[in-house]
Amino acid sequence: MDLRRSFPEPFDADADEARPGYRLMDSHTGSIQFESLDSKDLGEQLAFVESWFAKANDSPGWVAVATDASVRPEHTWQAVSAARIWYGGAFRRKARRAAGRVTAPDAELYAIRLGVGLALAAPNVKNIVLFTDHLPSAEAAFDPSPHSGQEHSLDVCKNVREWLRGDPERSITFVKVLSSLEWDFHHRVHCYASDPSLKVAIGRRPHTTIGWLRKHHTSACIDEWTRLFATPEYTGRHFLKLTDKSKVAQPSYLAGGTWCSVFDEPVEFSWFCCGVLDHAPTGDFRRRFKFPGPYDCRCENGGNQTRDHIIHRCPRYQREIDDIVLDLTTVPGLAEFCRKNPSVFSFGDSPSGD
Ligand SMILES: [Zn+2]
Repeated sequence: MDLRRSFPEPFDADADEARPGYRLMDSHTGSIQFESLDSKDLGEQLAFVESWFAKANDSPGWVAVATDASVRPEHTWQAVSAARIWYGGAFRRKARRAAGRVTAPDAELYAIRLGVGLALAAPNVKNIVLFTDHLPSAEAAFDPSPHSGQEHSLDVCKNVREWLRGDPERSITFVKVLSSLEWDFHHRVHCYASDPSLKVAIGRRPHTTIGWLRKHHTSACIDEWTRLFATPEYTGRHFLKLTDKSKVAQPSYLAGGTWCSVFDEPVEFSWFCCGVLDHAPTGDFRRRFKFPGPYDCRCENGGNQTRDHIIHRCPRYQREIDDIVLDLTTVPGLAEFCRKNPSVFSFGDSPSGD
């Protein structure tokens, strides 16, 4: 992909809103709040959001806003951002826009911009409570530095600053609402954003964020990595394919990666790698590369000391932890085997012991 043709998102590296000491989060910290409830209990979550809604509904000068976005996976249609505002006991206005070729956090950020815009346009607003299912996008709305969706953040910062200046009692609170709750007030804007009647084609030159480009290229790298991983020319013919949920464990960069993530100690990981690559000083390895013998295992079973013999049959190694037999076909299982047998795949464990 040619980045010059697909990178129309503007950035401002020297935005007024980003000047040190002038940033909204520095000058109006107490007026901007982010609220969430750390509980998996849906009943508690419902009570939490309803208490915030009741506060906004019952207090003069307060408005409640719900924002959400819909990112369609087909790469055919643009994402949609939407917002609805409630005051005086009813929904008053709503806004919905095609967001371009963006990630879900970008589209949520745009929805928050729309929601803040609706709130600031309402009459005599003193306090805003904005419900979103993606609080990081609400925090990004007050980050004026260059980032994916910066233009939305700069717009929010500029308009909210002017509004807060008008009255020191004004405040804006962002409240996290779980999508799984399907809470009516927020679920309505979810349905509004995902309504199939609004479908805007991607087109030839869609608005594209840096976040989408990063995600697109990362996905392309992972696809290529997965394709290569299936070829023995890439992995090596002796690469030990371990499993994850009965399928071959695939390479991943997430959460530390497929293999690295289960290790804390570099030494354990190094011997694990030697085993997986079959580049350990085993008898079989020495025979293959014509190193001097001996090649047979020092255990009572004897025979060629192959990797398979070490992992599955050699009586010199432990394969149980607290009477639970390790699943040595998986990455965590083989990792535990390496921890339980610290000398495995090391020089000290080779047939010659050196
Ligand atoms: Zn043995």
